[in-house]
Amino acid sequence: MTSHEIRSQFLDFFKSKGHQIVPSAPLVIKNDPTLMFTNAGMNQFKDYFLGNKIPQFKRIADTQKCLRVSGKHNDLEEVGHDTYHHTMFEMLGNWSFGDYFKKEALEWAWELLTEVYKLPKERLYVSVFEGDTDDNLPADDEARDIWKTMIDESRILYGSKKDNFWEMGDTGPCGPCSEIHIDLRPQEEVNRVPGKDLVNNDHPQVVEIWNNVFIQFERQWNPAKGGANALLEFETKYSGDKTDSAFKKARAGKHSEVTMLKELPAKHVDTGMGFERLCMAIQKKQSNYDTDVFQPLIQFIATTSGKKYGQEKWADIAMRVIADHIRAISFTIADGQLPSNNKAGYVIRRILRRAVRYGYTYLGFKEPFLYRIVPVLANQFANVFPELKAQEDFVAKVIREEESTFLRTLGTGIQKFEDYIENEFTNLDDSVASVIESEFGEATLKTINGEFAFQLYDTFGFPKDLTDLLAREKGWLVDDEGFVKAMQVQKERSRAAASSETGDWITVSDEEDVQFLGYDELETYSHIIKYREIKNKNKTQYQIVLDKTPFYAESGGQVGDTGYLEANSEKVYITDTKKENDLIIHFTDKLPSNLEADFHAVVNASKRSLTQNNHSATHLLHAALKQVLGNHVNQKGSLVNDNVLRFDFSHFTKMTDEEIARVEKIVNQKIRENIVLDEKRNVPIAKATAELGATALFGEKYGDFVRVITFDPKYSVELCGGTHVKATGQIGYFKIVSESAVAAGVRRIEAITAEKAETVINEQLAVLSELKELLKNPKDLVKSVESLLEEKNQLSKQIEAFQLQEAQAIKADLLNKVIKNNGVTVIAEKVSLPTTESLKKIAYELNAKVDNLFLVLAANVEGKPQIAVMISDNLVQEKKLNAGAIVKELAKEIKGGGGGQPFFATAGGTDINGLDRVVEKARALLG
Ligand code: ATP
Ligand code: MG
Repeated sequence: MTSHEIRSQFLDFFKSKGHQIVPSAPLVIKNDPTLMFTNAGMNQFKDYFLGNKIPQFKRIADTQKCLRVSGKHNDLEEVGHDTYHHTMFEMLGNWSFGDYFKKEALEWAWELLTEVYKLPKERLYVSVFEGDTDDNLPADDEARDIWKTMIDESRILYGSKKDNFWEMGDTGPCGPCSEIHIDLRPQEEVNRVPGKDLVNNDHPQVVEIWNNVFIQFERQWNPAKGGANALLEFETKYSGDKTDSAFKKARAGKHSEVTMLKELPAKHVDTGMGFERLCMAIQKKQSNYDTDVFQPLIQFIATTSGKKYGQEKWADIAMRVIADHIRAISFTIADGQLPSNNKAGYVIRRILRRAVRYGYTYLGFKEPFLYRIVPVLANQFANVFPELKAQEDFVAKVIREEESTFLRTLGTGIQKFEDYIENEFTNLDDSVASVIESEFGEATLKTINGEFAFQLYDTFGFPKDLTDLLAREKGWLVDDEGFVKAMQVQKERSRAAASSETGDWITVSDEEDVQFLGYDELETYSHIIKYREIKNKNKTQYQIVLDKTPFYAESGGQVGDTGYLEANSEKVYITDTKKENDLIIHFTDKLPSNLEADFHAVVNASKRSLTQNNHSATHLLHAALKQVLGNHVNQKGSLVNDNVLRFDFSHFTKMTDEEIARVEKIVNQKIRENIVLDEKRNVPIAKATAELGATALFGEKYGDFVRVITFDPKYSVELCGGTHVKATGQIGYFKIVSESAVAAGVRRIEAITAEKAETVINEQLAVLSELKELLKNPKDLVKSVESLLEEKNQLSKQIEAFQLQEAQAIKADLLNKVIKNNGVTVIAEKVSLPTTESLKKIAYELNAKVDNLFLVLAANVEGKPQIAVMISDNLVQEKKLNAGAIVKELAKEIKGGGGGQPFFATAGGTDINGLDRVVEKARALLG
């Protein structure tokens, strides 16, 4: 069975059991401060479990792109070294939201694995939760009894809270889970060691394939036991090390003491099966990399590097690392996250660098190579995750650029490393070295400083094992302790810089429904549902959730609304509005004195109106760019506020002035057509993209129903949650102010609209008319500036010629004033010159002409005193004269200073009356 068939069978199977099949959410998460990347199938349904949102379907199944490279789930270091953990993998999942529960979930899982996929029953093991007395959690007998009807009891295992109980956080939905493991070892080995002894033991052929989570309880704070505050107090008072396991254990104890479990009225099922591991099992392979999911990539890498897979340990690891990482990198970029130097972008950059480094070290790739794998991957997934195929060129370009940059850094880092070795080596006292060497052996003697190793890691992206490897090649060791210490110091520094504390939500009213009215209203009456306190460094802020709100929360590039809440003639200002998951959160510096009042919630209307001018203009701009530049243009990011709009899009070259002008023209034409906004809410996503032809943005998560914004169905149809003008005429005018590059293959346009554009244009016109006035209102301004410049050129040429003549005259005059003394030709005179350059020039020319020259010129350069001293080379040698020293002495007369070389030096000063004394002093110097 091919991997494509395996995937389809999963989806078909659950479809036949009444599940709605939905697309994978993007890998990149935007509205959740606790998570950067999707790391499990359930992420996109989190709001359903939390009760923030009601699901459209009670049964759902999908294949979800997951990335486990940061936070709670981080498998990065394993990847490539083992055969069954990936950075990016597909998680096949089925969900029940308050519908079926354990019986159906487990029976269907069993049916699918053993009857559809025909996996051997005797090789499967299942686990159920054994209970936890400390935490008052019951054993999951229900699951055990269901399994007993299908599988021999000897293959039902009992797992602890760590493996078999799932919780989202300190409070919230939670419940036991039941895992399914498979034993893929050869029969002889199975005979020797029973598989049940290897379950959950990191054995590469006895692996977990499926986890079924039963969300059965809700954990709540127990006010009788002090709740959240008691836990907080325990944490603050804990005196031991808060990073070690003793703390975790003690905290868990306290946590269970101050919380209580409530059986949920509507229970949920959340399952996740590792697709690549499933393929390994069905295709009877020993490693995920031997399945048809990875083989096309591995084979391509092998051919490109001229090596064979399966022949040499480190080359194999490198090929696995690359085959794995290229998937993570490509799909994340396709979902809108470019590599960068912070947050999610940095995580991607690090993965990319890990791949480059393995290729560089073990496969001999010294030139960019990852980008060449993109087409192989894009074709492989064209029908599963089409977003990659659609942006193949763009993704490859971004990767290539990153690779080149990093390969250069890698080169510099390696040079740094070699210099270090060289230096340290020569710094050693030979005799000491040989004594230590004979006593302790070579390696002990040569240790690379841990801080230096950390510098390589931090600045040059050298993972520690690369430094180890390079060191070993030279017979050196790395000071591991020093490295870890340097890393800790830096971590603490950045932790201190980013510290902020988020308090618990405090409930004000029991209202659960939150209504967003901001598409239709700018003010409304509303109540506070809950609020919490945020401490950022020294500032305290509050976040408020309202039952009804006209405030638009920042998203899709559009900034959040500002405004105020008013009750009993007290006004509290809302400084920003943001989203967290699906909650709309209002920021304020001050809480209202009566939290339970009826509030009048009012949005700052003029700011909103200017902002939506800019937002609608980005839609017009997007469509115009596609017309002018081509269909490869896709939105890569945007920022829309009341001042400006910024639009990032995929395009490979700088736009010409002509292209910019055409884009502006189209947009302004669409503004003048005064196209009326057509806004459709709650459109099924398939209808929006297929029938209406909406431009969907890759990497946006839309849910199943979307909002479609149309300005002329033939011109611009986009999926968008933002706010817009009623008709394009409101935008008034559109002006591009800059076009630049942001990353490889991504351009950025900044533009302004409405009053702002008007102001800028008027300012420019004012400058223009001022210029005209200065030039006495010529008919043709450009022509008259041109002739002005022409005239200026002529004049400068004439001046230069005059100055040259003058200098020649001065030179001739000086030659007449020569004094011969003891075989030295002395010229010491006062002169008037236009520039310091001409002073220098005369000095050099006289030096070329006159032998045995000792020249001192005291010059008046446009009213400023300057001295030049020039001495023939032979005099410098024979008489040990030094122009630099002499000029310093002479400069005292003009209250100044200077210096230079033995044969030529200059000085400047402030006292023009001292020039005569300079001449006298110079003459006296040589008698
Ligand atoms: P493991 O203990 O093997 O790391 P897990 O307990 O972290 O697995 P879950 O969080 O329960 O796994 O995820 C559900 C399923 O997803 C697992 O049963 C497994 O098949 C798969 N899976 C988890 N992590 C990875 C990974 N890094 N690469 C590939 N598949 C994975
Ligand atoms: Mg894991």
